[in-house]
Amino acid sequence: MSDTFAERLDNVERRIDAACRKAGRSRDGVRLLAISKTKPPEAVREAAGCGIRCFGENKVQEAHAKIPLCPFGLEWHLVGHLQTNKAKVAAQLFRMIHSVDSARLLETLDAHAATALPVLLQVNVSGEASKSGLCPADVAEAVVAANRLQKVEVRGLMTIPPFAPDPEKARAHFRALRELRDRLQDETGTPLPELSMGMSHDLEVAIEEGSTWVRIGTDLFGTR
Ligand SMILES: *Cc1c(COP(=O)(O)O)cnc(C)c1O
Repeated sequence: MSDTFAERLDNVERRIDAACRKAGRSRDGVRLLAISKTKPPEAVREAAGCGIRCFGENKVQEAHAKIPLCPFGLEWHLVGHLQTNKAKVAAQLFRMIHSVDSARLLETLDAHAATALPVLLQVNVSGEASKSGLCPADVAEAVVAANRLQKVEVRGLMTIPPFAPDPEKARAHFRALRELRDRLQDETGTPLPELSMGMSHDLEVAIEEGSTWVRIGTDLFGTR
């Protein structure tokens, strides 16, 4: 692992560029979300100094404490499980929530959002018992329910595949998420442009399968 943030970012950017070229995709179609969970405000400041604007946290409480200590004007995203009783704070803190996993949470977020709140529905495509996320069969109903709400706007889907050292093992899960998105767009008529998938070790495979947000922690900030 390189020792400065700038070097690590350079390395991640090269990997994203190469994956986009291989997939015949435009670099503009893939956004980098820097996952700063467990890292202090100084790490965020260093990343912001290298031009990173979008940061992801997995816990509302940690983000609530950290964000005021970070440079102003950054864009914060929630990528971790959200409990209903923290939905109000989350709706105020985050620009986008990647991890909405129930129709009830959509309603609670809608009730507390001040303005339009883009969200992604987290889907448990692998069916792993330990993972949160909607099961694929329930996603259409959640999209239709969200269309009746005022502020919450479902913009796409997110998934976390089971960890496997070989990134190729994630491909079938990423592909399943994209295919589910394609079917949902046809069935519900709702545009779902965003696919949040791919982490440090499998970002290339995710980009080849259509990711629009890669969520990178370790390879930018170092081990946690
Ligand atoms: C921690 C985390 C990441 C980043 O994982 P790395 O392997 O460190 O890149 C991405 N997505 C979610 C939901 C996470 O919790």
